[in-house]
Amino acid sequence: MRKRIAILGSTGSVGENAVDVVTRLCGRIEVRGVAGRSQLKRLAEQCRELHCPVAVCADPAKTSELQALLPPGAKALCGQDGLVELATSPEVDMVLCAIVGTAGLIPVIEAIKAGKDIAIASKEILVMAGGLIMGLAKRHHVKVLPVDSEHSAIFQCLEGKKNAEVERLLLTASGGAFRACHPDKLARATFADALAHPTWNMGPKVTVDSATMMNKALEMIEARWLFDIPGGRIHVLIHPQSIVHSLVEFVDGTLLAQLSVPDMRFPIQYALTWPEKVAGGMERLDLAKLGSLTFEEPDRERFPAIDFAYEAMRVGGTLPAAMNAANEVAFERFREGLIPFPRIWDIIAKTMHAHPPILEPSLTDILAADQEARDLAARF
Ligand code: MG
Repeated sequence: MRKRIAILGSTGSVGENAVDVVTRLCGRIEVRGVAGRSQLKRLAEQCRELHCPVAVCADPAKTSELQALLPPGAKALCGQDGLVELATSPEVDMVLCAIVGTAGLIPVIEAIKAGKDIAIASKEILVMAGGLIMGLAKRHHVKVLPVDSEHSAIFQCLEGKKNAEVERLLLTASGGAFRACHPDKLARATFADALAHPTWNMGPKVTVDSATMMNKALEMIEARWLFDIPGGRIHVLIHPQSIVHSLVEFVDGTLLAQLSVPDMRFPIQYALTWPEKVAGGMERLDLAKLGSLTFEEPDRERFPAIDFAYEAMRVGGTLPAAMNAANEVAFERFREGLIPFPRIWDIIAKTMHAHPPILEPSLTDILAADQEARDLAARF
């Protein structure tokens, strides 16, 4: 049977890769809706290419403009209500959430309640509300499948294994644009410098997050929720080539790893075709040609992000949401050239320190904590 999906964030980097994957899978997957923030023309093109009947844009004032661009028979929706309508539609079996940041939170929660499986690329929403989302998913018997390359790797290494057999998860990290950069140079780094990722081609937010290693901090918390493993058993390993996407160490001392060329289409495809592996025509990995793979411990003095994640997971409650909110604010300030690169960590550390965490938070508590942390971070 064809799987029917909705792609939230279809004009972003993961979204465009997903469109490519769907096209390569020649009819296995049917796209019933696409959603993007503001690239109306591209949304309309995607509707044409994919024969997709619904497109959602963020701004209600743009709905009629989008409607005019769509092919006959396709419908334009807008805003969070539009995202929720698409994500809960009876015509959709699975929602791929690839919206940057936290705008996908409510649509994902509503989709789970409507019994849709979720392929999740928006790590921020698991960082904010992982306990709540995974609890809901369990109650509604829906699958939450990872799209992030590291988590897809761990997911594959864990297939058929019990949690009690796992010693630790080893998340690999390329180290980002500044892995080997001198601290003086780091202080002068610009937005353009931070965008020069050595191995992955991704959107601006996640690329800057890779340079600060906040991406890995978010991924550690994402892993904690996706795989129900305590934070203390999640470790980070620097692997500059980005070929080993992550590893699981088992209680018997053996490790399983998953490898491929760094291409987001692999984890996206597996989330869409799971539990099946199918030929997608992507580049093959030639290990002999590569020659060697290297690994090292992360420098936690220079890159404090990993310790932010451990602290956020140790305390729990709303602290991870505060960490994420502060990171988003600091990212925007850095993007606008208003703060130097190392200030990003400063702002996050100060916000986390000042945030009074609520343990066992409701969705309302989480959203309030997110807003308070944004206000705090803006002041810092
Ligand atoms: Mg990743």
